[in-house]
Amino acid sequence: MNCNDFVELVTEFLDGALSEDTEQRFIEHLAQCSGCENYLDQFRQTIAATGELTPEGISSDARQHLLSAFRDWQRDV
Ligand SMILES: [Zn+2]
Repeated sequence: MNCNDFVELVTEFLDGALSEDTEQRFIEHLAQCSGCENYLDQFRQTIAATGELTPEGISSDARQHLLSAFRDWQRDV
């Protein structure tokens, strides 16, 4: 799994919607990659901060916004 795969799967991970195999690879990547660990933290904080934006209810617009913010941030590193 690479960072793009990880980002694409974050909402499904938070939903508990990943298959066992995929979740295993997701967690393995998380353990190796501090960038994605930070991203997952930010994602959770954003959901907590906005309250109503639950993983289930996250709109595709909001999701795209988070994903593009993460890609911008990756480019800066
Ligand atoms: Zn990563």
